[in-house]
Amino acid sequence: MGFPSTMFPHQPTWSNTRINLLQRCPRAFVLRYGLAKLSKHHPQGQVLSELFKIQTPWILMHQTMRGLLLDYVEDYVNGTIWSEKLVRIRFKKDYKQAITARNQRIQQLFHHGIHSSLFQLAQAEEHLIEMGVKSCIDMIQHNSLIRWLSHGSIERKNPVSSVTNENIRLYCSPDLIHHGRNGTTLIKFYLYGNLNSNERTHQASLIQSFGDNESTVALFILHRRKWYIHTTKPVEHQRKGAMNLIRQDIQHMETAFSKVNKNNDLSDVPLADSYRACMTCNVRFMCPSRHGFENAKAEQRALMCK
Ligand code: SF4
Repeated sequence: MGFPSTMFPHQPTWSNTRINLLQRCPRAFVLRYGLAKLSKHHPQGQVLSELFKIQTPWILMHQTMRGLLLDYVEDYVNGTIWSEKLVRIRFKKDYKQAITARNQRIQQLFHHGIHSSLFQLAQAEEHLIEMGVKSCIDMIQHNSLIRWLSHGSIERKNPVSSVTNENIRLYCSPDLIHHGRNGTTLIKFYLYGNLNSNERTHQASLIQSFGDNESTVALFILHRRKWYIHTTKPVEHQRKGAMNLIRQDIQHMETAFSKVNKNNDLSDVPLADSYRACMTCNVRFMCPSRHGFENAKAEQRALMCK
């Protein structure tokens, strides 16, 4: 492993996943985006990366939904319109594959002697399949999607595509881009609950960087199993505000990395300050907080008093 200075990415990188993890826990953030990357050719570094790839069946259900909706649109554009029965068959197949891949990852960890109550082999549960199928069908029948599919052209974006803005690499790609008589619309599916109005403006302003200043952004938000659509065309001050927040996020990320000492000693990198974050953390078993949340909190308090 190298020294912490190599932990800084050449180009600052921002994504919702990164900032969400940093907010949940600086220690988990540094392990995932610092040490795991830095040591990717080292067996333990690989294990660390794998650990973070293990998702819960609940998250996999939502990832399956996104994949299925994008496949649906792609096939539609190519002239094949899926029946509800096909949606159901495809969802079931894709979700089962996702669960199998998850189980294989967990079995690999068992081979490395890593056992944690978080990593249980799972089955593709029927109620999750039903939930996913229903949300997909509701989306496919949504008036706005039907309208976009009926005219103009629509393309699927690779979720890992990025843009560079003010030398920061932003991973916040729309899922679909529609070009029609009213201009370009950047469409994104948000599957994990509601966004308040500031969050919607922030996300829309960033997504707009994948089009131009005249592009409209449409956010489909799945909240309590119902789809809500918010359409907006961010303006100059909103774009600027969003980039200001991103710069602040980048500073926090760099501060977290800079707390890693020589020889990659993480003792000065704060732990989570919430019990909930630790309960769902994939690296809980290798963290001082495994002895209890109170210990982790005391350690964090001590670090803050330094
Ligand atoms: S167990 Fe808690 S403190 Fe430790 S890395 Fe995970 S979230 Fe952070």
